[in-house]
This record gives sequence, structure tokens and C-alpha cells, in this order.
Amino acid sequence: MLFTDLGLAEPLLRAVRDQGYDTPTPIQRQAIPAVLKGGDLLAGAQTGTGKTAGFTLPMLHRLAATRPPRDPAPGSGPQRGPRGRVPIRALILTPTRELAAQVEESVRTYGKYLPITSMVMFGGVGMQPQIDALRRGVDVLVATPGRLLDHHQQGTLDLSRVEIFVLDEADRMLDMGFIHDIRKVLALLPPKRQNLLFSATFSDEIKALADRL
Ligand code: AMP
Repeated sequence: MLFTDLGLAEPLLRAVRDQGYDTPTPIQRQAIPAVLKGGDLLAGAQTGTGKTAGFTLPMLHRLAATRPPRDPAPGSGPQRGPRGRVPIRALILTPTRELAAQVEESVRTYGKYLPITSMVMFGGVGMQPQIDALRRGVDVLVATPGRLLDHHQQGTLDLSRVEIFVLDEADRMLDMGFIHDIRKVLALLPPKRQNLLFSATFSDEIKALADRL
């Protein structure tokens, strides 16, 4: 099987070709068609399996398919949410800033031929540049939970229109004590959304979390 057999849009296939990949990995072969169909996904995958492209590619496909390119005519900016903010369309939560940065880099790599914007958000750095970036409009937000909740508390973030929610390395997130933060984030998301959960292991705690999703 080749990437071209998976039903991904041409701009995504071009970005994949630029990376020099033609054959999807096993997780990509399974995850990409399932996510394209719009269903929820619970996937067992470790780092190094190609899982990031496994969710990034179909996520970008769906986001691009359900909205015309940004700014179609002069003067008509992106649709604005409550209080003038541009809503986030996809949220990817990761346990660490390193992983957040890596995943957002993949979103940029695979989305480079699409009019989709992304941003990485984590703590330990200034809030203001993140607030400015959010104001400019972000489609795909890759974040660690703590800073995400800080922004929500400050009213600088609108998660009410998230269409796709990804929990990456969910087992590591639970190991690091993020369960309460995850629950708080879930409460901010709209009930109707697509959920993707990736985990290397499946404890009862992960299964319980998956049930909540
Ligand atoms: P990940 O498991 O998402 O961290 O990806 C591990 C590495 O595999 C990354 O460096 C990817 O760029 C690379 N990769 C992803 N998909 C493929 C593929 N289909 N063929 C070869 N390498 C890939």
C-alpha cells in the first residue's frame, strides 16, 4: 500500500512526498482511513512508529475539507468567535514541551501546502507572545495542559469550537499527574467532536479515560 491509496488530499500527498515517504507505516495504514471517516480512535502506538503523521495527516485533511481557504476576499478575515477571538479547530495535548514542539513541527511540515495555521503553546515562556499569536488566528493548537488552562483562565483562548481533539502519549500524561488537568480541558470542549487517543500502554486508567471521551 502507498500513501496515494489512502484518500488524502493532494497538498498533503505532496508534503509527504517532500519528506521522501511513499509507504505508510502500519499505524498510519490503520489510523489514517479511520480518522478520515470521522470516527473516534483509540490507538496503541509508541514513539518511532510514525504515529504523529498518523493523526496529523487525516486531521489536516478534514480541517481543509470543511472550510474554504482563509481570507477568500479582501476584507473578509477568518470567522470570529465570542469576544472577537478566532476559535481553535483542532487541539492536540501532549505531556511535554519537547513533544509539543515536535508535533507542531509535523503539523507545519505536512500542512505546508494548506492554508491552515498552527501554534505550539507551553509554560515557562512569556504569555504575551502566545496571546498575540492566538489573536492572529490559530487552527491547530498543540499544547501542554498547564499553560493551556492558564490561557483559558485569562480568557485568551476559545476552545468552544474544537472539532478534533488529540491526546498524544496519554499514558505518559497520566504518569506525570495530568489527569485533573485533562478533565478540566475536556470540560471546555464542545460535546460534539472527534477524539483521538494515542497511548503506548493500556492500563485501566487509560481505558477509563478513553471511556470518558
Ligand atoms: P513518530 O512515531 O511520529 O515520532 O515518527 C517517527 C519518525 O518516523 C519521524 O522522524 C517521522 O518523520 C518518520 N516517519 C513518519 N512516517 C514515515 C513513513 N511513512 N516512512 C518513513 N518514515 C516515516
